[in-house]
Amino acid sequence: MPKGGSPEEELNALLPASVAVRFDEMFPSVRARRVRRRDRKRAEMLRKAEPVLQRALGPLEVVRFVTNGARQLAWGLVTAGSMNPFTNRTIFVLTDKRILLIHTDSKQRPRLFANQLPLERIRAATGRHSYIFIRSGREQLMFHGVKRGEAKYLRRLLESTPAKEGGWQNLCPRCFVATDDAPKSCARCGETFKDPRKAALRSLLFPGLGDLYLGYRWYALLEILGAAFLWTLFVVVLVPAVRARGFSGVLIALPVLAFVALLHGSDAILTRAKARSGLHSLDRALPTGDTETT
Ligand SMILES: [Zn+2]
Repeated sequence: MPKGGSPEEELNALLPASVAVRFDEMFPSVRARRVRRRDRKRAEMLRKAEPVLQRALGPLEVVRFVTNGARQLAWGLVTAGSMNPFTNRTIFVLTDKRILLIHTDSKQRPRLFANQLPLERIRAATGRHSYIFIRSGREQLMFHGVKRGEAKYLRRLLESTPAKEGGWQNLCPRCFVATDDAPKSCARCGETFKDPRKAALRSLLFPGLGDLYLGYRWYALLEILGAAFLWTLFVVVLVPAVRARGFSGVLIALPVLAFVALLHGSDAILTRAKARSGLHSLDRALPTGDTETT
């Protein structure tokens, strides 16, 4: 990392070469001739997202700001989706045309899906502390985990944008064409997407299977282990109870069974919501710097 040069030189060296950046919006502290750690982190974030940005952004589109955090569609709060750090990590890229959300892994590499919100569709951007609320269409996106100062700055960048109808758009993870709905396959490149209903049914059958199908492997593993534990508990309670009391022993184990059933049901609902939060490609993920690009 070059350290000797000016702040601009140092940051430019970190930025991806193929992405146009509005420098003074992206790095507001540089005017004070300083490079903050967060500035370096943001430049790095952008570099990791480069394979997606290259394909998703228009030829004249300029990146204004980037930050990372967790996204949350409003009603997902009800389903405890916020306790799900494995599946909702996102990079938030603001350009002169849109907000681009890129799902990432824990190392901020693009992973499963991407969405976008054209700026003219933003009805309101509010928030407090490290929270940003963006209202559009019938949905409100909650983005959190952003550094406080950055959240405030970002909200200011988002303020006073004209409002049109419509909400978030899904992006095809392969050709990055935008769509307002959730098609079974991409109208432009033919890429097929995972079916939210299939994902939900799998989770109903056994918690975690739907997540596995969607590609959230670690979260799936945790759920499968948790559900397996509860099923084991059910059997451990059931067998001695039936031995001791015959058929009426089943009643004793019934509460455990009810709990397990509840888990299956709620995981199905949660999995469906996760599947619908973006287009999950059937046989590929988002491009990262690691994989060969096509
Ligand atoms: Zn496509």
